[in-house]
Amino acid sequence: MAAQYKYNVILLGEVGVGKTSIFNRIKTGIFHDGQRSTLGEDHLVYSTNVDGDHLSVSLWDTGGSERYRALTGNYYHKANGALLVYCVEDAYTFENLQKWIDDASNHIKGETFAWALIGNKCDLPNEVEKVGVEQLCERLQTKLFYSVSAKTGHNVSEAFDELIATIHRRQLDSDSQSIKQDGAGTFTPSVEPTNVKSNSCCS
Ligand code: GDP
Ligand code: MG
Repeated sequence: MAAQYKYNVILLGEVGVGKTSIFNRIKTGIFHDGQRSTLGEDHLVYSTNVDGDHLSVSLWDTGGSERYRALTGNYYHKANGALLVYCVEDAYTFENLQKWIDDASNHIKGETFAWALIGNKCDLPNEVEKVGVEQLCERLQTKLFYSVSAKTGHNVSEAFDELIATIHRRQLDSDSQSIKQDGAGTFTPSVEPTNVKSNSCCS
């Protein structure tokens, strides 16, 4: 069945927090060392159902370009949501998240953008205080916080699925608001011939 809705989700966070390992875990269901020698964004396409709607979601990994702060505007611009990743064993990677939030905020569009905060490597000791995590979730206006382990697989698909569901429900809410604003319940068809959402990336 063709997807009714298309979304893009990006991975963000410091080098070494486990973004590529999370990406690989979602892609293949197994853990292997995430480091890649080549640079370049990579993406996978994930199909799922939310509330009876068929969704196609592209998940994008930085491919290591965050090392040089070389993420392009386009990397952010296409995104409907982000997995914002830190390493629970390294408080620095949590404290530095604001840098990625600021970068993303310069490019992301729309009030439907959704964040999920991800504390990866929860198989290791946790050095990040709960209160800081709660405050950050408040600032990001998200309830989505997950302790995950790309290594054991703990909570990885749960976090991704919940973010996707949140993005989709926000999109539907926003669509129904615009229909209301269009006037007395009369739906004005979009220019597009199908109901595939155009907020997806062209690539
Ligand atoms: P990236 O730079 O954010 O893409 O991070 P990588 O995915 O390349 O991972 C950096 C290092 O952390 C690698 O050595 C991984 O094997 C390791 N790693 C990633 N996820 C986990 C995890 O959940 N637990 C543990 N113990 N190590 C992990
Ligand atoms: Mg990587």
